[in-house]
Amino acid sequence: MSAKILQGKDFAAQIKESARKEVEELKQKFNVTPGLAVIIVGENPASQVYVRNKHKACEELGIRSENISMPETTTKEELLNKIDELNAAKDIHGILVQLPLPDAIKKDSEEILNRIDPRKDVDGFHPMNVGKLVTGNPGLIPCTPAGCIEMLDLAGIEIEGKRAVIIGRSNIVGKPMLHLLMAKNATVTVCHSRTKNLPEVTREADILVAAIGKPQFVTADMVKPGAVVIDVGINRIAPKKLVGDTDFENVKEIASAITPVPGGVGLLTVAMLMKNVVTATKLSVR
Ligand code: NDP
Repeated sequence: MSAKILQGKDFAAQIKESARKEVEELKQKFNVTPGLAVIIVGENPASQVYVRNKHKACEELGIRSENISMPETTTKEELLNKIDELNAAKDIHGILVQLPLPDAIKKDSEEILNRIDPRKDVDGFHPMNVGKLVTGNPGLIPCTPAGCIEMLDLAGIEIEGKRAVIIGRSNIVGKPMLHLLMAKNATVTVCHSRTKNLPEVTREADILVAAIGKPQFVTADMVKPGAVVIDVGINRIAPKKLVGDTDFENVKEIASAITPVPGGVGLLTVAMLMKNVVTATKLSVR
């Protein structure tokens, strides 16, 4: 049996369409056009592609987007001042600082992200939004894990009561995924680089989430037949070849559903960002 391929573009289109309707409603009811400011520091080529995709999605949905390109030599203070300016701007409802930051200010990433007004924190990384997620209160949720959950919902895949295993415990993917799956009443295990007997643990998963950052790390023998496999990984193994964290060709033969890379979770991340911009705008008109 070959797995159902969960195509990100189909789900992303549905999420964007509902965000587009909400943008229209905000314009008509409140005379407000949602505005997103994206700060990019330096010349990282991958970051530039991601930022372009974010602006393109804004354009499609009628969201005003502002690109703030700062030089590689930008200091922490200069970046903090820019964030303060955007925090105060009435026509900006969402702010994001594209990661990674250049080496000279990388160590300050946390302080920089924490300067964003939590109500405008459309990446959902601010401790206040993290706290809301952990305590089960509505807030802005990190886009990639939120996109995974939305995709499972839209695909009609039941989460409640399922055994979910996440490989990876980053603040951006693994940890928020734990809270989102737990909130949906899954029984969740989080694995990481110190986990012993990893394949034994992953083989228990009805829903397996791979967020490791190692090409084709999850092999077929690590997957229970019939499991749903969500591959968050994006690994460039050649100039024009991206692969995920799972050995897609072999795992798809035993899973019941699987996300491809590229074309899977990555597309949902941008769609969820649009949803977060709408949510942040709604907070501002309340
Ligand atoms: P991090 O590097 O921050 O985290 C990787 C996690 O994997 C860590 O928790 C690490 O464990 C764990 N890990 C590493 N090696 C092993 C191992 N041998 N066995 C078990 N666990 C291991 O990565 P991110 O969470 O930021 O990203 C993960 C992947 O997802 C990357 O490929 C990234 O590019 C991609 N990504 C994709 C996005 C999208 O839009 N689709 C968005 C964000 C990320 P430990 O904590 O012990 O070090």
